[in-house]
Amino acid sequence: MTVDLLAIFAHRDDAELNCGGTLAKAARMGHGVGILDLTEGEMGTRGTAEIRAAEAARAAKILGVTMRENLGLPDAQIENTPATREKIVRVLRRLTPRVVIAPAIEGRHPDHRVTAQLVRDACFLSGLAKLAPDAPKHRPTKILHCLTYRQDFVRPSFVVDVSQDFETKLAAIRCYESQFAGATQAGEVYPSGEPLEDVVRHYSAYYGTLIRRAYGEPFSTTEMVEVDDVVAMEVATF
Ligand SMILES: [Zn+2]
Repeated sequence: MTVDLLAIFAHRDDAELNCGGTLAKAARMGHGVGILDLTEGEMGTRGTAEIRAAEAARAAKILGVTMRENLGLPDAQIENTPATREKIVRVLRRLTPRVVIAPAIEGRHPDHRVTAQLVRDACFLSGLAKLAPDAPKHRPTKILHCLTYRQDFVRPSFVVDVSQDFETKLAAIRCYESQFAGATQAGEVYPSGEPLEDVVRHYSAYYGTLIRRAYGEPFSTTEMVEVDDVVAMEVATF
């Protein structure tokens, strides 16, 4: 089985929180979508790795993604090493995604920050035939970094309209009962005292307004976004 789009994040529930709407939308549009979680979340305060595995499987089903795997790296201790890079390279070569979604390059959780660079490095190395030569090389064309909860005011390169898929995103997040029942914070989401679900909704609504839609998810790319027909461009200036 191969995928067109692969989201790679440190912990189960990171993909849902950051880009669940975009993943659900891509799946709905007929693309093959996958999630690779790097750790089993065994350092989390709430729940166990087993409970989180069941929750992650339910969430994947709701999003409509065709595969979800776990690399089993140590939670809270993810390192960017030759060994961890090669583990990801092997997944990339087996699944051959064209586009990879990764965390923001900055983040308050060390695992998120390390994962962003680890994913970038693995995507590059995956194109080198002489590294792990038993698996044919494959380099993803594009890496998208999720900016959803960043507070350093990085201007997104683009925002995906997830208005139709936002309730699916929330339904997937709700699968993580062990993590989020009564929660007011998660991962990169700073607590404001309000229920987590409301905070997620407000962030998505804010990014939606940037493209004059109900809900949006923001991404950055290190390379420029190309526009083909300027006359057909969306998002009114006034
Ligand atoms: Zn996380």
